[in-house]
Amino acid sequence: MTPTEGLDGLRAEARARDGEDPLARYRAEFVVADAGPLYLDGNSLGRLPKRAEAIAARTVRDEWGSRLVRGWNEGWVDAPRRVGDKLGRLLGAGPGEILVSDSTSVNLFKLAVAALKAREGRTAIVTDDLNFPSDLYVLGGVARLLGGGRRVVVAKARDGISVDPADLAEAIGPDTALVSLSHVAYKSGFLHDVKAVTEIAHAAGALVLWDVSHSAGVVPVDLEASGADLAVGCTYKYLNGGPGAPAFLYVRRALQSALENPITGWFGREAPFSFAPEFAPAAGAERFLVGTPPVLSLAAAEAGIDLTLEAGVEASREKSVALGKFLEGLWEKLLEPRGVTLRSPREAARRGSHLSFGHPEGLAIDRALIEELNVIPDFRPPDVIRFGFAPLYTRFEDLYEAMDGFRRILDEELWRRYAGAGPAVT
Ligand SMILES: *Cc1c(COP(=O)(O)O)cnc(C)c1O
Repeated sequence: MTPTEGLDGLRAEARARDGEDPLARYRAEFVVADAGPLYLDGNSLGRLPKRAEAIAARTVRDEWGSRLVRGWNEGWVDAPRRVGDKLGRLLGAGPGEILVSDSTSVNLFKLAVAALKAREGRTAIVTDDLNFPSDLYVLGGVARLLGGGRRVVVAKARDGISVDPADLAEAIGPDTALVSLSHVAYKSGFLHDVKAVTEIAHAAGALVLWDVSHSAGVVPVDLEASGADLAVGCTYKYLNGGPGAPAFLYVRRALQSALENPITGWFGREAPFSFAPEFAPAAGAERFLVGTPPVLSLAAAEAGIDLTLEAGVEASREKSVALGKFLEGLWEKLLEPRGVTLRSPREAARRGSHLSFGHPEGLAIDRALIEELNVIPDFRPPDVIRFGFAPLYTRFEDLYEAMDGFRRILDEELWRRYAGAGPAVT
């Protein structure tokens, strides 16, 4: 077999897989230009659903434009709860347990402070070094703000890719107030076992807060069944909610009346439009709202969430796993022999919906993929290139094209043109 025959075989296999893909029709639900780019960064910002474009235009024109302030009584004020309940159907939560509000970082702050206050006397927040930097910054800030010896204990990923549950179990103890982790690690894609870790934390008397930003919509999450106490996540990755779309928070029903939001704004008050001078928290998870909801971006986000519900998370996960295995096979054939390393778990059941590859010239390769070949992955320092596969619009053939492009950039040394400083956002 000549090298070209091998490549043609891989392309033919990719096309055959696309031909039998039960989710293939969802690609037409998104704005995808024929001229590209070949987009493999849905793990950072999902594509634009066509219906989001239509709903956003209608919300601006018909609701803002003609209803004006009356819009608050005609659906706007309930939007954080309405959209939260839809997310609940995706994430295994009941009505009134998820609310859409603020950013993920702000929601994490509110829930982490509430959890620590509910576990006075315990001083440790346990996390791991695969967690998203903003989450680590927020947890560190919360520990400093509350003081009293509070500190963040960071379990280490020994191989830089995955965290051994035994290492987490060792970090969790009688002093642990809160365990806060990302379900899927933003860099390696490592997938925690939510139920197992939650059980370890509960056995030690700690509360557990999961960040599901990288799993919502693409990896099944069952907040209720897993026993999770609290969760946060964003809607602009696999949920395709749009740039800066509002985030969400989950508070288990049994905990809602016991926890206090440290940011006591009017939307978290019981009957906000009573304009009463004293704060009195709303009865349910609504107490974790703060201010006026972002109506326009919520309307756009709802379109992406509806689309995800229609396709179903189980079907999405099934395709995502198949895409991941196909991509891993391409890496083995085309990139591993050229010195590119896999920086994600080998086991499909232990990873989310992106794969990371390591190369000392990672940033220059990332730039060359974008500028020379119109292929968009992303780069995470110091040397990791991430390829996200969003099952509602990524094709097997896209993965083939991207990996063959990666091979060409190495063989023809196209990356040399981009050696040096990169742009601010990678
Ligand atoms: C994307 C992401 C965020 C984003 O936080 P924002 O405050 O909404 O910008 C937070 N945590 C994790 C784990 C993420 O993947």
